[in-house]
Amino acid sequence: MTGLGDSRHVVVVGASLAGTRTAQNLRALGHTGPITLIGAEAELPYDRPPLSKDLLVSDWSDETVEGFRLATSAELDDLNLDLRLGVAATALDPDTRQVTLADGASVDYDVLVIATGAAARPSPWRPASGLLQLRTLSDARAIAARLALREPVVVVGGGFIGTEIAAAAIKLGCPVTVVDPVAEPMTRIVGPEVAGSLVDLHRANGAATRFGVGVVDIRGEAGALTVVLDDGSELTASTAIVGIGSVPGTAWLEGSGLTLDNGVVTDARLRAIGVDDIYAIGDVARWPHPGLGAHRAEHWTNSSDQARFVAAAIAQDAVLEYSSTDYVWSDQYDWKVHTVGWRDPQGSSVLVGDLAADGRVAVVHADADGNACGAVTINWVRALNQARRLLMAGDTAEAIAEQLEQLTVRAA
Ligand SMILES: Cc1cc2nc3c(=O)[nH]c(=O)nc-3n(C[C@H](O)[C@H](O)[C@H](O)COP(=O)(O)OP(=O)(O)OC[C@H]3O[C@@H](n4cnc5c(N)ncnc54)[C@H](O)[C@@H]3O)c2cc1C
Repeated sequence: MTGLGDSRHVVVVGASLAGTRTAQNLRALGHTGPITLIGAEAELPYDRPPLSKDLLVSDWSDETVEGFRLATSAELDDLNLDLRLGVAATALDPDTRQVTLADGASVDYDVLVIATGAAARPSPWRPASGLLQLRTLSDARAIAARLALREPVVVVGGGFIGTEIAAAAIKLGCPVTVVDPVAEPMTRIVGPEVAGSLVDLHRANGAATRFGVGVVDIRGEAGALTVVLDDGSELTASTAIVGIGSVPGTAWLEGSGLTLDNGVVTDARLRAIGVDDIYAIGDVARWPHPGLGAHRAEHWTNSSDQARFVAAAIAQDAVLEYSSTDYVWSDQYDWKVHTVGWRDPQGSSVLVGDLAADGRVAVVHADADGNACGAVTINWVRALNQARRLLMAGDTAEAIAEQLEQLTVRAA
């Protein structure tokens, strides 16, 4: 039973980006059968990137918050879903094709899409109060309330989310210190060529940085926290915000028999290994990436692309292997950081442009075999788009860098 007129019941667990987009794409592609969308959060689905950016420094009016919804309630109504928000799935039985919910209900499916994303990696340090983490809209509200006090903040974790929160805190007038055990924390994502510039950017904007130093403990309470570092020094803060990565939302799948290993492990068609009628997508899925091997991407575009891919697989019986666009962005103060493809730590890179002189730069990555595999740009969307196109065309890193050089020549 395939394509238009398909009456199979599709159950989607996780009602955020990947889950909501799956339901929307299924309807857009003509799936006429029932769709149940189950979400642990009571909120109408919303977008997460603004939580550490625009929304964190916003006025928090209803109108502003509603602007970040992934769909209005009218749009969700039009999808004709069995929408169950505020109730988590607690168990899965692939043999009986049944999902059990926290309210005691059970839901039978013909096809299951697991889109339960990820949660903030829990803080190992537990002061009495004043320590916050960011993953949900309510987390962002709680952080915004603390930042409104304009009191000192320590951000633990110098990745994209931690540094975006630091930038927001500075904008709101808080003294900020960012701590990370890695000397140039962005290296893993953008590579060593530009990671140092991002560190400098934070310092230039007034953030104190303690990079290359780990946290040993955070004690005290809101307004009077002590952050103990592994070099023996201590920081005092009113609020600590801990952004040390994420853990995939797989706890409810323990005992289901699915292969779980830092996510739901899938085949190249995003089907849970060995199970044809269960897909896993978005931040919870660990799929065979052509360059990175078994990989759990934690990025907006990947979740959105995988939702579209799986909806096509279900509604149109498309038999394809998922291929990622590998596109990621981050806003750091007024800088726009973009990456496409991936970076092989064993590979090499070519730098194009001069960030200090021109305010923009591109880095083209090659893997250990010399094949071009990715690019990073700062404040240079045109170069990013060009690099993306050339990467897809299979050009070498040197050829891509030469073409990007031409952009600087033409602009001069
Ligand atoms: C603060 C922040 C900023 C970000 N900024 C960027 C950015 O600038 N660029 C970028 O590319 N990406 C960014 N991301 C990442 C991006 O938002 C994620 O990749 C995307 O949200 C993943 O979507 P998802 O639907 O797979 O998972 P999630 O968004 O994690 O959603 C999963 C949903 O499933 C629900 N759920 C979990 N368990 C259950 C259960 N048992 N039953 C029912 N429901 C369940 C959760 O409550 C949640 O609503 C950011 C993320 C955060 C948190």
